[in-house]
Amino acid sequence: MNSVAPHRRRLLAGIAALWAGTVWPTAGRAAPEAEAQWPDASAVPGGVALLPLGPAADRPTAWSDDARLLVVGSPVGWTALVGIPLSAAPGPAQIVVEAADGSRRRVAYQIAPKSYAQQRLKVAPRTVELSPEDLARHERERARQQLVMARFSEPLPTNLRMQAPVGGTRSSSFGLRRVFNGEARQPHSGMDIAAGTGTVVRAPLAGEVVDTGDYFFNGQTVWIDHGGGVFSMLCHLSRIDVRVGDRLAQGQALAAVGATGRVTGPHLHWGVVLNRVSVDPALFIHA
Ligand code: ZN
Repeated sequence: MNSVAPHRRRLLAGIAALWAGTVWPTAGRAAPEAEAQWPDASAVPGGVALLPLGPAADRPTAWSDDARLLVVGSPVGWTALVGIPLSAAPGPAQIVVEAADGSRRRVAYQIAPKSYAQQRLKVAPRTVELSPEDLARHERERARQQLVMARFSEPLPTNLRMQAPVGGTRSSSFGLRRVFNGEARQPHSGMDIAAGTGTVVRAPLAGEVVDTGDYFFNGQTVWIDHGGGVFSMLCHLSRIDVRVGDRLAQGQALAAVGATGRVTGPHLHWGVVLNRVSVDPALFIHA
């Protein structure tokens, strides 16, 4: 048998083209395998910059601030994926790249401005002001989240093509700036998906469950480590069906939608974290 399956043949042709230094056509039908594998490049606050690092025999290591970056590609050309914080100022930015021989260089890029919608709300003060006990609890939970996000595990993901964890209407409220009684709050750092209590929640990408808990704001929550500093956070769950250490395949059921934590009704909040930064989950879904 010398026949090669069509998809395999396409893949081999794609690899051959990459080795030959071919540039993918920008018009017409480009190679879907190559394009849909990584998040859409969007060098704005809350987006992901894809920075070409050039060829090298060994995968370089890269950092943004002190957070290690996911570097993907092959010896023909490496690319650093940089999650940009919602709080980042537009303008010049840079990462640090270390080659296998230990030599370091800086790679500069530009963060373009993006204006997110603002929501001004007047509410009864006691609904937004936390008691000292609740505030202390929230601070403890935030520290725990930072620890979860500090992991940089291998194997690295071979693609970041995610699937929405539940069907349903996806809000475009990522980055929404919320002002309660004239006071700015944290902007909305994930995607809300409308779904009824009990709807099955599925893993957006393969990974390992690294934290579960019942948190003040986020309610019942599951964190999935996809490798390379990429995480999904699924919040306000009514039920959690997995435990820390469980390995999940993409699409595997793990929990049910609910209204736990500080919410007004049942929905799923899905957060995606890259180099300890919350970025827009919509960039990882390719329709
Ligand atoms: Zn939300």
